[in-house]
Amino acid sequence: MSKCRSNLFLRSLFAIRLFLLFFGLLFLAVSAYAVTCDLCGENIRGQYRVYQTQRGQMNCCMACDLSSDHCALCRLPLASGVSRRIAGEIVCPQCARNASTCAECGCLIQNKYFTLSETNQTFCASCFSHLQRCARCNKPLSGEQKNLPPQKDGTRLCRQCLDSVAHCAGCGKTILSTFYRYELSELVFCPDCQARTGKCYSCGLPVGNEGLDLVDGRKICARCQDTAVVRQEQLERIWKWVKTYLSRSGFKVKHDIALQEVDRNRLRQLVQSPTGARELGAFELDNDTYTVYILYALPESLVYETLAHEYGHAWQAENCPRNQDLILCEGFAEWVASLVLKAMGYESVLERIEKRPDDYGEGYRKLKQMEQTRGRAYMLEFVRNNTRFE
Ligand SMILES: [Zn+2]
Ligand SMILES: [Zn+2]
Ligand SMILES: [Zn+2]
Ligand SMILES: [Zn+2]
Ligand SMILES: [Zn+2]
Ligand SMILES: [Zn+2]
Ligand SMILES: [Zn+2]
Repeated sequence: MSKCRSNLFLRSLFAIRLFLLFFGLLFLAVSAYAVTCDLCGENIRGQYRVYQTQRGQMNCCMACDLSSDHCALCRLPLASGVSRRIAGEIVCPQCARNASTCAECGCLIQNKYFTLSETNQTFCASCFSHLQRCARCNKPLSGEQKNLPPQKDGTRLCRQCLDSVAHCAGCGKTILSTFYRYELSELVFCPDCQARTGKCYSCGLPVGNEGLDLVDGRKICARCQDTAVVRQEQLERIWKWVKTYLSRSGFKVKHDIALQEVDRNRLRQLVQSPTGARELGAFELDNDTYTVYILYALPESLVYETLAHEYGHAWQAENCPRNQDLILCEGFAEWVASLVLKAMGYESVLERIEKRPDDYGEGYRKLKQMEQTRGRAYMLEFVRNNTRFE
């Protein structure tokens, strides 16, 4: 990403300085020969200084050496009027050509410096080591980017990352690299929530740090909690709507159906899913008494789905052979649920049924296919009169 470039120019400066340290600082005794000062042009009497330049040797009388400016980079004494000023420092014309300043503090760069290949900016060593960087892409935050507001968790991002960054649906943390996604969900989760917080019983996604532990052992995420049906009258209203909607769609059930809200332990006593799928409700036929059971505190969409599914079983109890196999029986209940989900616009729950990999999903897809190719009336006749698909 970034390289330290001690370029030739700066390296030669360094060499010159070393040279001066060992030799140049020695005051040479007046030689027998006449020596002229390269600055004032006078013959030198007494001590004088010798500088090595790129073009050879430069002699300087002590008076000139003390009174003149010296280049901040190569240290040569400068004749009056030739010096340049860069970042407040005096520089000779040669050095001025290649001099650069730090993009951060603006100082004249004297020794080691760093160039960022992405932005082509040059920084002094000190600024480079303290550069604020984007936590996601590691590019330095320079200029106005330093004033961009940090994320809620304090993370600082560059403009580009700010526009595309995602946040963990479980804890809100800024996603910097690894994240987890689930089929049929747009949400992303950080590795922490994925590994530590358990899965929501209702939606199957990581619970995150605002989940709820229900007394029957279920964990519920905050999103499912938001729409959880917890009031009895709300449940009754949905139940009434589902019964009315399905009756009007041609699936009237003559029996009264009792509705009972249960916890997971009670539901497990009533029904054990033959496919190991998580149970949300059950239909019970006891002599001539019909009962639908549903888990409490399910999100609204799952309440509609579950009630419609179990209502489908009630319709089957009145209209279909008793010994239907699992694929046909559960596939049809799912198909009934799909009618309600479509009417309510619960697309994502519907999509889950459509992609369900087990017998429920397989039966649903077979019936849907039959409905599409032979019509609904044919499909319903098939369900009324058959115990299996073939
Ligand atoms: Zn002189
Ligand atoms: Zn210079
Ligand atoms: Zn700097
Ligand atoms: Zn970035
Ligand atoms: Zn998280
Ligand atoms: Zn959930
Ligand atoms: Zn069922």
